[in-house]
Amino acid sequence: MDFEVSEKMQTILGMVDEFIANDVIPLEGEMLHGNQATLNDLIVEKQQRVRQMDLWAPNHPVEFGGLGLNMVEHGMLAEALGRTPLGLLVFGCQAPDAGNVEILHKYATDDQRERFLRPLVEGEVRSCFSMTEPEMPGSNPVMMATTARKDGDDYVINGHKWFTSAADGSAFAIVMAVTDPDAPPYSRASMILVPTDTPGFELIRNVSVMGHAGSGYGTHGEVSYQQCRVPQANLLGGEGDGFVIAQERLGPGRIHHCMRWIGIAQRSFEMMCDRANKRQIRPDGQTLAGRQVIQHWVAETAAEISGARLMTLNAAWMIDRVGPKAARDEIASIKFQVANVMLRAVDRAVQVHGALGVTDDTILSYWYRHERAARIYDGADEVHKSSLGRRLLKRQASGGPIRLGMAHD
Ligand SMILES: Cc1cc2nc3c(=O)[nH]c(=O)nc-3n(C[C@H](O)[C@H](O)[C@H](O)COP(=O)(O)OP(=O)(O)OC[C@H]3O[C@@H](n4cnc5c(N)ncnc54)[C@H](O)[C@@H]3O)c2cc1C
Repeated sequence: MDFEVSEKMQTILGMVDEFIANDVIPLEGEMLHGNQATLNDLIVEKQQRVRQMDLWAPNHPVEFGGLGLNMVEHGMLAEALGRTPLGLLVFGCQAPDAGNVEILHKYATDDQRERFLRPLVEGEVRSCFSMTEPEMPGSNPVMMATTARKDGDDYVINGHKWFTSAADGSAFAIVMAVTDPDAPPYSRASMILVPTDTPGFELIRNVSVMGHAGSGYGTHGEVSYQQCRVPQANLLGGEGDGFVIAQERLGPGRIHHCMRWIGIAQRSFEMMCDRANKRQIRPDGQTLAGRQVIQHWVAETAAEISGARLMTLNAAWMIDRVGPKAARDEIASIKFQVANVMLRAVDRAVQVHGALGVTDDTILSYWYRHERAARIYDGADEVHKSSLGRRLLKRQASGGPIRLGMAHD
């Protein structure tokens, strides 16, 4: 394992840390109890500053103006940006656009690059990813009801999706739809690019999540596709390749998510320590920090975050060396482990803040509400645990290595 940070990367991380602390975290007040339009203007202004610093969309390849980072470097950057919910958006590398950019890069035709990828990379438009359906189990997406039927030179899409995150205001959706119901299960579906102004595309509502429906980027859309007609030229990759492409989208994406969660955990931890040191609980000046239970939470949280960070960087290092397929055990293990470490860190920080912890005067309650979903999206905990456990048991039975952190295939 080699997580040595190059000089160039150290400079970048230093610039990012400073900008996040001085320019982005101060916007959280506007996000929590201000005005959405004012916040949008402030975000655009900060995005402009990021462009001037040559740090815009750092996740993109160099030819698209990105920094050409490897996966470990990506991870380190995601932690720095994850310290505030606005970090990735201000730097132009937010989900779901970042994942969409990755697959468009790999699979888009020249025409699709010009129409969809270029404006997305430039930050002129946003996009969304439309796979999950309310009536079907997202954990087993081969059970999919949305269809795309060929008609002349077009596909006609019919279906009902939800949790199409950021659909509100997106220029286009990448839609998963069944193109051949008779094919083997994992070859039935395809990805199709659907501009959101196509007749038949309807954003029914922004689903209210933990008390907030939101608007614009921070939303989860319920979307109806009714006789939604797009040219067959909007097919992304080959017909029937939907699940293969979806898998590619998820592997490296989990490093981004996990390291972003480490950023959340680390900042929550720092807030927890600060509060414990300052909160006086006795007239003689004793603070919460003097209580053993608090000291234990501090020690446990520090150790858990450190373990989670090392696990994730190790998985990133393996993706760099052997690719996402050979690193799938490590990727599965970080997905559930880091989500739970992050949620415990946020929960303890809320507890140490007492009533203040559940108000919107700090960022903690926002994370408490919104990050609970980390144990569900991109594969629920139980699904990752089952598949990892099954693979480890099978490998042990055939005499193979069952130590995580080593390439297997
Ligand atoms: C905040 C958020 C953002 C999202 N963004 C997007 C997006 O942009 N685009 C998109 O297409 N989707 C998105 N999703 C949807 C997400 O991918 C699905 O919610 C997820 O795949 C789970 O599917 P489901 O909700 O249908 O749950 P189900 O499949 O119904 O599963 C429910 C629960 O059952 C349990 N379970 C399921 N299968 C098993 C099993 N095999 N063994 C044991 N237990 C099991 C798990 O505890 C699971 O949480 C988002 C979801 C959330 C919460």
